[in-house]
Amino acid sequence: MSMSDELRLDVEALRAEFPVLSRRLHGDRPLVYLDNAATTQTPRPVLDAWTDYFERYNANIHRGLHRLADEATQAYEGSRDTVREFVNAEDVREIVFTRGTTEGINLVAQSWGRANLREGDEILISRLEHHSNIVPWQLLAEEKGLTLRVIPVDERGELDLDTYRALFTERTRLVCVSHVSNALGTVNPIAAMSEVAHRHGALMMVDGAQAVAHMPLDVQALGADFYAFSAHKLYGPTGVGVLYGRFELLEAMPPWQGGGEMIKTVSLEEGSRFAAPPHRFEAGTPAIAEVIALDRAIRWVTNHHFELISDWEQGLLRRASEAMKGIDGLRIIGEAPHKAAVISFVVDGAHAQDLGLLIDQYGVAIRTGHHCAQPLMHHYGLEATCRASFAAYNTPEEVDYFVDALGSVIRMVR
Ligand code: PLP
Repeated sequence: MSMSDELRLDVEALRAEFPVLSRRLHGDRPLVYLDNAATTQTPRPVLDAWTDYFERYNANIHRGLHRLADEATQAYEGSRDTVREFVNAEDVREIVFTRGTTEGINLVAQSWGRANLREGDEILISRLEHHSNIVPWQLLAEEKGLTLRVIPVDERGELDLDTYRALFTERTRLVCVSHVSNALGTVNPIAAMSEVAHRHGALMMVDGAQAVAHMPLDVQALGADFYAFSAHKLYGPTGVGVLYGRFELLEAMPPWQGGGEMIKTVSLEEGSRFAAPPHRFEAGTPAIAEVIALDRAIRWVTNHHFELISDWEQGLLRRASEAMKGIDGLRIIGEAPHKAAVISFVVDGAHAQDLGLLIDQYGVAIRTGHHCAQPLMHHYGLEATCRASFAAYNTPEEVDYFVDALGSVIRMVR
C-alpha cells in the first residue's frame, strides 16, 4: 500500500491555514490563485513564526551575549539545520543563506567562477533557463573571456540530451541547469546530467527555484555541487533563499561580499582574515525573521508529505490539461512527460496580456509574459504565453472555474 492510499491531503483544512485564500475580489468573486510558480502563498504557522520573532526575541544574531540575541541566534542556526535535513546535505556548513535563487547563482558565479575559471573555459547552460541562470554567466563570460554553450530544447520542452553529451570539451568546467523549468514545468533529469558532467570533470550547479515546493530534495542523490532556491516559492517569505554547496568547494572559495559577520579578524595594517563557510558568504545582518520563517515553511510542507502534495498537484495538472485541450485554438506549450504542475499556453487570435487582465476580473490570478525565459520563448517563436501553476492548496473546483472563466474571456476577445 502506498502512502497516498493510507493518507489523503486534507485540502480543506490545509486551505484554512492560508488567510489570503479567503479573499474575494472584483465584486465578490473568490480568489483563484494560479500564479504559484511566481510566488506561493504563506500559511498561518509561517506568518506566526515571523511575527513571533519580532514580538518576543528581535535581536541581531551571533554578536550579542544577552538572552534575546542568544534566542535569535539559536533559531537562525536551527533553521540552517532544518534546511540541511530538507536538502539532505551532509554537513550544516554546506548551507548558505542568501536573498534567493538569483543571489545564490550570482554568488557561485562571482566567487567560484571568478576564482576558478580562465579565458577559454566553457560553461553549459540550457535554452530553458530563467534569466537568473543566464545573465550571471553572461556577465562572468564577458569579464573572463569564457564561452557559454547552450543545451537545446525539443518541441515537447525537454532538453536534448544527445546534444548535451556532445557539447562537452576538455574546457567544459561547469553545467548550470534548472531542476524544473518555470515557463513549461519540464522536470530535467538532473542526476543523469550530473553524472555526465562529473565524468567530464565539470561541476553541476542546479537552479532549484521551481522544484523545492513539489518534490523531495536530495542534493547528494542529484549529484549537485551547488543547488539554489528561494523561500517564497516554498510557502515561505520573500527576501531569503538558500545556496547549498559541497563543503570542499565552499571552503576553497573566496568571499564575494565584505562586511560584518564574514570575517575572523580585520586589521588595517595586515588586512582581513575570513570566517569559514557558511558565514564567509553571509556578510552583514541577514534576513533573520525570514530565515526563521523558512524553517517553519519547510516543516509545514514536509508535514504535509511531498508524495501527497505531488499526487494532488499532478491530478490538478491532468484535469486542467484535459479540459483546456477542449478549448478551440488553445495550444499548450511544452508537454514533457515528466512535468511539474505548470501549464503554459497560447490562444489563437488572443494576446496573452489581454487574457491575463480579463481573467483577473473573474478573480483568477495567472501569469502572462515571457516568464523571464526569453530564449525559450524565441525557440517557440513566441513573445509571451499565459501560465497557470498549481500548489497544494488548489482544488479541482478551482481548475473547473478557471477553465470556464478562460472560455468566457476567449469569447470576449475574439
Ligand atoms: N530560477 C527559476 C527557475 C525561477 O522560476 C525563478 C523565479 O521565478 C528564479 C530563478 C529567480 O528566483 P528569485 O527571484 O526568487 O531569486
